[in-house]
Amino acid sequence: MSDSDKYRSNSNEVPDSSVPDVDEYRAAGQTVPNNLPLFLTSVWQCESTEQADAILDGAQSGFVYQRESHPNANQFAKACRTLHKAKHATVTSSGMAALSLAVLSQLEHGDHVVVCNRLYGRSIVLLGGELQRLGIQHSLVDSCDLQAVEDAMTDNTRLIVAETISNPILRIADIKALAEIAHSGDAQLLVDNTFATPIVCQPLELGADLVLESVSKFMNGHGDIMLGMLAGNHDDWERVESVNSTWGLASSPLECWLACRGVATLALRISRACESALTVAEYLTEHAAVERVVYPGLESHDDFQLAQRQFIQGSGHVVTIQMTGGRAAADQVMGSPALAFCPSLGDVTTTISHPLSTSHRGLSLEQQQQLGVNGATIRLSVGIEESDSILERLQMALER
Ligand SMILES: *Cc1c(COP(=O)(O)O)cnc(C)c1O
Repeated sequence: MSDSDKYRSNSNEVPDSSVPDVDEYRAAGQTVPNNLPLFLTSVWQCESTEQADAILDGAQSGFVYQRESHPNANQFAKACRTLHKAKHATVTSSGMAALSLAVLSQLEHGDHVVVCNRLYGRSIVLLGGELQRLGIQHSLVDSCDLQAVEDAMTDNTRLIVAETISNPILRIADIKALAEIAHSGDAQLLVDNTFATPIVCQPLELGADLVLESVSKFMNGHGDIMLGMLAGNHDDWERVESVNSTWGLASSPLECWLACRGVATLALRISRACESALTVAEYLTEHAAVERVVYPGLESHDDFQLAQRQFIQGSGHVVTIQMTGGRAAADQVMGSPALAFCPSLGDVTTTISHPLSTSHRGLSLEQQQQLGVNGATIRLSVGIEESDSILERLQMALER
């Protein structure tokens, strides 16, 4: 029996030698758990000094201390590798920890980063503010403007950071072109694929060097955990694993166990949500209360062709609208009991958010205008309910 058949767990991860072995269960006359159990232990007992030495050295598989590695993280990492067709994946305690892991493992003092100005707010704070403290400079540019990205490259540029689908105007990064620009210098391309998920887009396949996801969002899809992941095809991934443990970015077993259950249904969930998102976008296009609908699956979207080229299936589960009645109309919708106002995305049910008063509140008026965010902007995270039910509740909210 191959190791991967031992547990018919969500991702068929190979349990290492210190995980109860199927043969041991059988030898004891026991039935075998069909899923990898949750290993809530911070430390493992070592049989001998030689064994501890060999495991910590990497010469023998096994576990010693949870922050270094644990079975539930390995199982989720395996699922991520499969989803992204990646050689390596490392699980982190959050999406931000995955970004920290990328920069702390890949950059050093004196390096320069080209940062897309459409990135998740905290990512800009990290790449702009925090890295500057560590002597890593950055240029903030619109990564949809490839010439601007090229112009921002310096001899010290080691990283370009972009998002597959940006928030909230859902612009699409041209991953192939950005990878070419990065590789024409001595830089790597890091793509935050959170809004797409690996079912819709696989950045590594398009030439990106590193991909990260906030698993807290649609990847897990049940709105109950914080987790992140970083994947890539580097040869020296041991360095990434080491930084993950050294800087204390590692994941907890319960979150990984839940994330494994979440991604087991990822393909089903995202295809349902993408289908409903398109239905919702088409419905809203006809609605008088809505001035403009932004969805990469609509031909009216600026990046429709690019999305068609890069996406494997669907166009994501996020739809953004501009209300005809401005801020006052948006406030009415946000206060509606028909749809939950949640400043996040990727839950089971459809939720709405108001970027101006949440994710984009810290930006200057000029920056907000640049990104197309104002008081009338509402972002919908379409869930996996029946689409009729979503449309019904949307209608109720819009009629307020
Ligand atoms: C939420 C989010 C993050 C940060 O992830 P956390 O799990 O909240 O730390 C990063 N990028 C994008 C696009 C996100 O939506």
